[in-house]
Amino acid sequence: MTSRYGITQDELVSLLAGHPRYRVDQIWRGLFAEFVAPADMTNLPKELRAEVDRVLPLALETVTESVSDRGDTIKFLWSLADGSRIETVLMLYPDRATVCVSTQAGCAMACGFCATGQAGFTRHLDHSEIVEQVVRATQRAKSMGRRVSNVVYMGMGEPLANEEPVWQSLVRLHDDCGMSARHLTVSTVGIVPGIRKLATRPLPVNLAVSLHAANDDKRDALVPINKRYPLGELMKACDDYLDVKGRRLSFEWAMIDGVNDHPSDAVELANLCRSRRLPAHVNLIPLNPTPGYPVRGSAKSKVYGFRDQLEALGVNATVRRNRGTDIDAACGQLAAGQSVRITPSRSNRD
Ligand code: SAH
Repeated sequence: MTSRYGITQDELVSLLAGHPRYRVDQIWRGLFAEFVAPADMTNLPKELRAEVDRVLPLALETVTESVSDRGDTIKFLWSLADGSRIETVLMLYPDRATVCVSTQAGCAMACGFCATGQAGFTRHLDHSEIVEQVVRATQRAKSMGRRVSNVVYMGMGEPLANEEPVWQSLVRLHDDCGMSARHLTVSTVGIVPGIRKLATRPLPVNLAVSLHAANDDKRDALVPINKRYPLGELMKACDDYLDVKGRRLSFEWAMIDGVNDHPSDAVELANLCRSRRLPAHVNLIPLNPTPGYPVRGSAKSKVYGFRDQLEALGVNATVRRNRGTDIDAACGQLAAGQSVRITPSRSNRD
């Protein structure tokens, strides 16, 4: 059975053979342009609503929903058809609302400071599972009178280790759901072939790179995949992406006490940013606590000092406000209820 948000228009036509075409169009619009649940498609006869609900099953079952920041951050824990679990975070700001989606159940990148990395890899998500996260979070936002404006691929998993389904989900959000590429951001640990592949795709989505260190020795230790795709190669791939897309690149930097928050780190990072053809923007994220990593985040004064130093060196830098730390919804805390590394690779049926 095709899942609800993975279906193509042609598949919907054949699935609803016998119904007039205008009905199919109403359903398509309801699903993708308006994000309406079939039961709420009041322009359809009741039996047809029930039929759509039955023939197009949802891929995500709600396990829990946690709320933080006085209602401004909502984390969804979902169970997939095979029992795997993933999380999605909805963040409401005064001027916009952002959904942070997962692209894999778990992650194989093994960054030691990240809870998802600590838990290991379960499986890739397909595009319908990614799109449905956006739809379900948008429906929740709508219930509070809010519209989702941005989608960031910064939840569980490494998007560019799962490039094809990620790409299909981006196309759907852009073509069928009407989101502009400017409001779609893919974050990567630095998978060079994935960046190169994404550069060949037609949509100019934003690229964020989780850098965390600006020399290979330090980055090898923090982000193991750096040994496979060292900084020189990664920066070349980023430059080429920017050449094709004309978008600004951003670097993410989780500030780890005594590890990557020295003045010399800021100098190295500034050099890397300024040597790009378009200067990169830096997002500083004070490291969030995770069960498997004993080092703390940098103190607030150090984070702002680092930011000021970068600015003085001519680099734009923003300190990202931590959202949902108390519900384990902040950057690097998504583990879908798993808090320890179990095995590097788990079967789908675990
Ligand atoms: N795999 C992708 C998508 C995950 S995005 C990537 O690496 O970009 C999540 C972001 O949060 C990444 O920048 C990641 O490095 C960062 N992060 C991971 N653990 C963190 C932690 N404990 N505190 C703060 N940021 C963290």
